[in-house]
Amino acid sequence: MIPKPTSRFLRVKCEDCGNEQVVFDRAASVVLCQVCGATVAKPTGGKAAIRGEILGVLE
Ligand SMILES: [Zn+2]
Repeated sequence: MIPKPTSRFLRVKCEDCGNEQVVFDRAASVVLCQVCGATVAKPTGGKAAIRGEILGVLE
C-alpha cells in the first residue's frame, strides 16, 4: 500500500487585501500575495507557515 502524500494545495486568503490564492503547503520558498505582495506562506523545512486564513484544501 502506498501512503497518501501529506502535502496539499491550500486556498489561502491574504490577511492584508483579501486576495485568494492557491499555496503549496510545503512551499520551499516564501510565497507572496499576487496582488499586494504580502507574505502568504513561509518555508519552515516541513509544512509552510501560512499567514492568513486557510479557506480550503485542494486534493
Ligand atoms: Zn494581499
